[in-house]
Amino acid sequence: MPSPGPGRLAAAVEARLPFAERLFDAVRAETADTVGVTRPAWSAEDASAARIVAEAASDLGLEVGYDIAGNLRCTLPGADRGAPEVLTGSHLDSVPTGGHYDGLAGVIAGLVALAAFRDAGATPACDLTVAGLRGEESVWYGIAYVGSRIAVGSLPLEDLDRLRREDTGRTLAEHMAEVGVDVEALRAAPAAPVSPENTRAFLELHIEQGPVLVGEGIPVGIPTTIRGNVRFPYARCTGRYGHSGATPREWRHDAALAVVELVRTLDEFWIEREADGVPDTVFTVGKLFTDPAHHAMTKVPGRCDFTLNFGGTTKGFLDDGRNRTRVLAERIGRERRVEFDLGECVGSDPTPLDPRLRGRLRKSCGSLGLPVREFATVGHDASIFARAGIPAAMVLVRNAHGSHNPDEAMDLADFGEGTKVLGQAMAGLAV
Ligand SMILES: [Zn+2]
Repeated sequence: MPSPGPGRLAAAVEARLPFAERLFDAVRAETADTVGVTRPAWSAEDASAARIVAEAASDLGLEVGYDIAGNLRCTLPGADRGAPEVLTGSHLDSVPTGGHYDGLAGVIAGLVALAAFRDAGATPACDLTVAGLRGEESVWYGIAYVGSRIAVGSLPLEDLDRLRREDTGRTLAEHMAEVGVDVEALRAAPAAPVSPENTRAFLELHIEQGPVLVGEGIPVGIPTTIRGNVRFPYARCTGRYGHSGATPREWRHDAALAVVELVRTLDEFWIEREADGVPDTVFTVGKLFTDPAHHAMTKVPGRCDFTLNFGGTTKGFLDDGRNRTRVLAERIGRERRVEFDLGECVGSDPTPLDPRLRGRLRKSCGSLGLPVREFATVGHDASIFARAGIPAAMVLVRNAHGSHNPDEAMDLADFGEGTKVLGQAMAGLAV
């Protein structure tokens, strides 16, 4: 029997929820810090999480191994071992003092789905594999998705020696070798392990990291697109320090008020675009500060540093945000007698998720009696697989209190619903 059928699969997932809870608890116990969990990629803690998940997968009778980057792979063999596989999973690493479910939920959901297939007595037509990916967070090396980029071959190999921990100066290659990755084999590897030829789809379950599902009382969401972004990480405005009481307006070169005018006008631009119906846009000024070595209540600020971060699902909005910023900085700088240096502008294009896979996920929600809620999401490993030409989609699970903090709160029941949606979509693909 290639597919267990929706009812049997759902019941089998339900029966495996205590297994999932034990696994969450075991990883948490091993990688806990004072209040949350800390698992930097290719650290001893990240390796412990991989070991615990690998042992659980072995106990389930799955084939367990690691790819050339040290990404964990747990496979339920299909009837045709040569057929392209269905891949699921998420990341094992975490931010410092992160939450219990970011990333790990997707790895454990994959294991539960595979266990449910086995428990229901089904043999999928192709291999079903769960990946425990490394290095999704950008904690030590300043770039994200390192494990999935290596898996699809989109990380330049020189980055293994170029990327260094900011605090210790040790390279990515050194850390990988320390937890058992054969870096020389990786350098010599002729092909990436994951390609459109050997992988028919990548499905990632992840906790929602924003407030939508909790706010609307819906357990599971389906992302439409992974937002792209345009970012100015090192922008600054330089004016001239002056005495706050003794300097009339026309003599001022106030860097702080110039930045405030810039960000207020960009906020209006964002509001206008939303009113025009441009969907799923965000705009954030995460840093805005005067220099504590020089600033004072009684000084006109001579310098103000800030960051700008536009996110959106259309390239048009992102291009407009970038251009508008440059034009405004020019005008406001002239009018206020200050100089803007916007610094490097970085970003990524939006990544639409696969419409057919999203259709399968909507159908799964429907057959489980769950409402269908679709909206854009933030960067995840799924975007790396999508950009490599592998059809990719995601399932988001309701989670209170945001993410990347120890207060992440996902109900096991919601996790179960999300895993059923995931499992059913995988079942539909593996026939
Ligand atoms: Zn994550």
